[in-house]
Amino acid sequence: MAENFTPTSLPRRGAKIPVDIYEAPKGNLQSLVVGKFIDNKRYPLWQIQQWVVSWETRGRVEVSQDHDVYYLFFHNPRDWDIFVGQHNTLNFKGSLLLLRPWSYTMSYKSINFSATGLWVKAEGIPFILTSEEFATKIFGTAGGVLDIDGTPNSQAPQRFLRARVWTQLGKPLVPGCYIEYEPDKLLWVDFKYEGVFHFCKKCGVIGHNTAECRKSWDEADQDLNERIVAYSPPYEVVFGQANHQLYTNKIRGLRIHQLFVQLKLTFSPSLTSVNMVPVYPAF
Ligand SMILES: [Zn+2]
Repeated sequence: MAENFTPTSLPRRGAKIPVDIYEAPKGNLQSLVVGKFIDNKRYPLWQIQQWVVSWETRGRVEVSQDHDVYYLFFHNPRDWDIFVGQHNTLNFKGSLLLLRPWSYTMSYKSINFSATGLWVKAEGIPFILTSEEFATKIFGTAGGVLDIDGTPNSQAPQRFLRARVWTQLGKPLVPGCYIEYEPDKLLWVDFKYEGVFHFCKKCGVIGHNTAECRKSWDEADQDLNERIVAYSPPYEVVFGQANHQLYTNKIRGLRIHQLFVQLKLTFSPSLTSVNMVPVYPAF
């Protein structure tokens, strides 16, 4: 009996229905990807279907829509394999489309669109600081570090460090961090988020612009503080000069270019392995 059992809290009960997973009419569900825009813009189904048709795939990809959720059915299982191995987000007209691949327990209710892995770059890092340990430290202040890209630990100078970071959506993006390169000497480092084009320079949240922001400056400030304090330990939080614009277009990790703002996919027939190669070319 659970220790916290009290006479007023009765345990849950219900009939147990056995399921033979193989008897379920799966149809093409196993080649399903569910997508949702992290954006206040909405796009009609025909636009999304037209976009998807432009991808160079082995088989057809059909799209259906239920309110703000899109269902992508890949007719070729190889396409699906490659797609889910490489993409957890896409961009359409600059809006971020979050993707969740089919799993056996997937249901409308179980799909979580509150966070995703985003590629984050840190620029302005002194050349001497290229170790994987250091990259994990700085990107850990933005979220959970999933992958470190490039060649950390290499002796060659690098333009930036880059990592895939588990990022909470609907919360302010962490705009950067300070590096204390000597005692009491600080260097600000900007974080740039790939695939983020439509975001608010007031509250730092993806999916709306500054004019559409419903938060007051005080609320925005408080939310950002909470976000930074939550991910900073064991490091001290430092406040820089006042009246400095915190969010600028620097937060974009990629140029505003058709190639990035609306990704067109090509699944090369010669691509035989599924891997986590970065979707976007570094530049
Ligand atoms: Zn806002």
